[in-house]
Amino acid sequence: MGRLDGKVALITGAARGQGAAEARLFAAEGARVMLGDVLDDDGEIVAKELGDRAAYHHHDVTSEADWDAIVGETTSRFGRVDVLVNNAGVFRIIGLTATSLEEYMRIVTINQVGTFLGIKAVTETMIGQRSGSIVNISSVAGLTGSAGTIAYTASKFAVRGMTKVAALELAPFGVRVNSVHPGLIDTTMLRDAFELSVEVNAEAARASVPNGRLATADDVARLVLYLASDDSDYSTGAEFVVDGGMTARL
Ligand code: NAD
Repeated sequence: MGRLDGKVALITGAARGQGAAEARLFAAEGARVMLGDVLDDDGEIVAKELGDRAAYHHHDVTSEADWDAIVGETTSRFGRVDVLVNNAGVFRIIGLTATSLEEYMRIVTINQVGTFLGIKAVTETMIGQRSGSIVNISSVAGLTGSAGTIAYTASKFAVRGMTKVAALELAPFGVRVNSVHPGLIDTTMLRDAFELSVEVNAEAARASVPNGRLATADDVARLVLYLASDDSDYSTGAEFVVDGGMTARL
């Protein structure tokens, strides 16, 4: 028996990285999964690999019309929406004074506004079902500051805060909302941002992660699975850290 048997999940940014890992794990645990992303070729490949249990739909999280379309497609194809993972995001290391308003707004619009639109888009359906789990992917950058990440940190603190507001408003209807705070996860995002080579990777991990390694996307997916499933039934409005101990020293 799978931990998500009978459930329908919508995952944003699911064409690669953590979103793709969550789609694979959710499907293996019995869920039917709608994958959204702007990387259509990659998204189609992941969905195809999962067979009838999954489908891909082009979805830009900054577009309210795209949200209406993907939620409509999910309910018409699979009948309901039990889980939303607001995973899509962008990251760039750039100093405060070098950050243009345009770049600040680009990052905040995808990471923060995209999450807001996602919560809004599934609320009516989940309230109608009297159940649901929304998992918002924040970051350790939503818990503490780090130089060179003004827009990203703003967006991830906002995701953490919005999670609590939504959790309070939706708790009476049986809908849970939690935030996840990954540390250093070995995906394209991290490799592009730090221009990591395998050697630098190992060194960076040793230097900054107490348990001595970068996380894999699967490390995060297993935590998100817990929050998506009924195993976490009593948790809402809470912060779940998966960082190999990085923030323990703060
Ligand atoms: P990734 O770059 O591999 O995946 C991000 C995905 O989001 C990509 O498939 C991308 O196409 C998609 N995306 C970007 N803009 C989009 C948009 N407007 N609409 C829809 N999809 C869009 O990176 P990842 O590590 O898998 O990141 C997943 C989440 O985890 C992000 O929210 C990120 O901020 C967060 N996170 C990552 C790390 C890390 O170290 N990698 C650490 C903490 C938090």
